[in-house]
Amino acid sequence: MADCIFCKIISGEMPSYKVYEDEHTCAFLDIHPVNKGHALIISKKHYADFLEADGDTLARLSLVAQKVARAVKESLDADGCNVTTNVGTAAGQVIFHVHWHIIPRFKNDGFKLWPSQGDYNEGEAQAIKEVISQNL
Ligand code: 5GP
Ligand code: ZN
Repeated sequence: MADCIFCKIISGEMPSYKVYEDEHTCAFLDIHPVNKGHALIISKKHYADFLEADGDTLARLSLVAQKVARAVKESLDADGCNVTTNVGTAAGQVIFHVHWHIIPRFKNDGFKLWPSQGDYNEGEAQAIKEVISQNL
């Protein structure tokens, strides 16, 4: 994709701090890290997001994400990490080339995950569960 930043990183047209590369995937440091060591795993083939990528690509990304997450956690002496992918603008996706974030986390880094918007009303979980199941 001509105007995709991550495709340009793969081709070398744009610089990055690459930590891993193989035939199908590439991993590099996020330019605006949540915590230092925050890495991104991308497929060399362009897909807009997690929902569009084919199964082989997702399987490879997942294995590399685990490999990089282990290395990031150990290298930064982190207490844990978030492994996440954003789908769509509403979910915070900014770069529309499928990628996983590996964010090293520390007990006292002060970040909180999402608050709950409230529990299900009577019958609501059952109804939602049925719709999701039917769409699988
Ligand atoms: P998204 O919000 O799409 O899931 O995440 C995109 C990530 O890419 C952001 O965390 C952002 O900091 C990172 N990013 C955006 N542009 C560049 C860039 O040119 N180089 C690198 N290394 N990371 C980038
Ligand atoms: Zn791309």
